[in-house]
Amino acid sequence: MRFYNTLTRTVEEFKEIEKGRIGLYTCGPTVYDYPHIGNYRSYMFEDLVKRFFIFLGYKVTHVMNITDIDDKTIRKAIEAGLPLNDVTQRYIDAFHGDLRTLNILAADVYPRATEHIPEMIALIATLLEKGFAYEKDGSVYFSIQRFREYGRLANIEAGSLKLGAAVDLDEYDKESLQDFVLWKNNKAGEPSWPAPFGNGRPGWHIECSAMSMKYLGPHFDIHMGGVDNIFPHHENEIAQSECANGQKFVNYWLHCQHLIVDNKKMSKSLGNFHTLGDVLQRGFDPMAIRYLLISSHYRKLLNFSFDSLEMANQALSRIRNFIFTLRNIQAPGEATKAVAALIAASQDAFTKYMADDFNISGALGALFDFIHEVNPRMAGLSQKDAAVILAYLERLNSVLGVLEQHDSGSVAADIEAKIAHREKARKEKDFARADAIRSELKAQGIILLDTPNGVKWKKE
Ligand SMILES: [Zn+2]
Repeated sequence: MRFYNTLTRTVEEFKEIEKGRIGLYTCGPTVYDYPHIGNYRSYMFEDLVKRFFIFLGYKVTHVMNITDIDDKTIRKAIEAGLPLNDVTQRYIDAFHGDLRTLNILAADVYPRATEHIPEMIALIATLLEKGFAYEKDGSVYFSIQRFREYGRLANIEAGSLKLGAAVDLDEYDKESLQDFVLWKNNKAGEPSWPAPFGNGRPGWHIECSAMSMKYLGPHFDIHMGGVDNIFPHHENEIAQSECANGQKFVNYWLHCQHLIVDNKKMSKSLGNFHTLGDVLQRGFDPMAIRYLLISSHYRKLLNFSFDSLEMANQALSRIRNFIFTLRNIQAPGEATKAVAALIAASQDAFTKYMADDFNISGALGALFDFIHEVNPRMAGLSQKDAAVILAYLERLNSVLGVLEQHDSGSVAADIEAKIAHREKARKEKDFARADAIRSELKAQGIILLDTPNGVKWKKE
């Protein structure tokens, strides 16, 4: 297993701290609005990585924070004239709903910033004690000159450090190498907590250091996020954690590139973003969205368009039709060695591609090559062969997660019910009614097949 580590800017062999176990921290949402699908590209890549490690047999402990207090959440609550909690809870609920819709595995813990204020205060106190932080006008700042390694993750040359004035904002650009705020002096109208250094609230960066440490310890395996988290957020997390704990914070940093729309960065500030709800309202299948968002390599920009979403839909249909055909095989006979050999070769290729810096194009290629090889042999397969192939597809899907929602459940049940009505109409010689049902299904993209074993259906 090897992948690109942002910290060293090289593809490295992965070695876990504790055998067979992985501590994984991923930066979660700031709950002041609905995330756009660019945010979900990162969350889905993180999900793909986690699922692959589980597929390889690792026990993964996954922590994803919820930032429910920062500059943006407070601004939103003030605008809405509502208590902070009322605003953030709405977006937290929506976020969990989206995760389910997109078939993203739940994290083990979703710590909320507002529920970990004492841990943040203790961490800031340690940084003050050790001389890495200082107080000014009731706020506490981290002194970046005290940390020699500052700038390593974002690849900022130490010599180029030109210090600006200490900054109070949670978000700022790479040109601003500044002491950043750990604790913000209380402002009128903002929520605040008592602390030894005065009433106030935490800065955004200290939240992730305090919460990752609490649930994963001071030193853990993998930290992930979007590339826009690298600076200043992750750079600052490293500074805070390593200075407080006197040891290395994280071994591997993985960052997912942006999703762009029409070759522009998708962001709330540019106003060209689609939320998941927007895309679903246009009638797209959530699994097609998932397929599209995982199907490009994570270190490349992904250019989103509704045409590419349509293509993802077609790729999914090919897999679903393949599964449909396999499920209808009833021929007797034993499972054959030829099929077992095809599966072994395919799984080997899939695993090798994924283990090589999460080469998803190669891995999906291995899946479609397999479909291509099995399709011409379909007529000669036994039901037992089909079962072995279906079990293999389920294993691949434990990594990809693109098949769960459509193959069974209400859609299929609805189609079966219509077929039964049509059969009844035919028996009653109501051919007009039977034809109407067939056309209705055709409009849904469902084709009926009269077989010796009764009427079967497939997608166009
Ligand atoms: Zn974070």
